[in-house]
Amino acid sequence: MINKDTEKQLKKIKKEVLICQKCSLYKDRIYPVIGEGNHQAKIVFIAEAPGLSESKSGHLFCGPSGKILDELLDSIEIKRQDIYITNLLKDRPPNNRDPKVEEINACYPYLERQIKIIKPAVICLLGRYPMQFLMEKFGLEKEIQPISKIHGQVFISNQLFGGIKIIPLYHPAVSIYNANMKSVLIKDFQILKEIE
Ligand code: URA
Repeated sequence: MINKDTEKQLKKIKKEVLICQKCSLYKDRIYPVIGEGNHQAKIVFIAEAPGLSESKSGHLFCGPSGKILDELLDSIEIKRQDIYITNLLKDRPPNNRDPKVEEINACYPYLERQIKIIKPAVICLLGRYPMQFLMEKFGLEKEIQPISKIHGQVFISNQLFGGIKIIPLYHPAVSIYNANMKSVLIKDFQILKEIE
């Protein structure tokens, strides 16, 4: 069922992001990519930043990484409509360079509001930037290790509201460059089936 208050608050974020100039990324903006999916989702995925396809369309994971994400979701019989997806940064860094700390800090208040509005039970952090930054924000700084060590593990955070399960995962794009990573991703995604 649609919750009007949730819709209103998420629309407000969208309006703000569309005109945001809190960091210099707005200068190269085609479309910001804000967040998509089920506003009552139990599972939220947070990736790094829009790529070129995403910033040209304003939609999440619509390029090559999106195809892989869909395959991974298919493997656990979860549909995109069942989850919510967003990024650490709402605008694309030029030439897909790594996000800068000041850009992440400037953008985080939007993400924090999105999480508090949706109140998911599970947050999957796709890749090392969301993992590093958000585990710290979620009071899990002592648990941070290289993603190769903690991918697929479940951590509990009580920072934003009670008991959110935080799961660091490899970014789906890793399997574009290293085909062997697909099976690691498929195995890690299984955890979402088990904790549903
Ligand atoms: N990669 C990301 O990190 N985010 C997207 O939205 C698409 C690709």
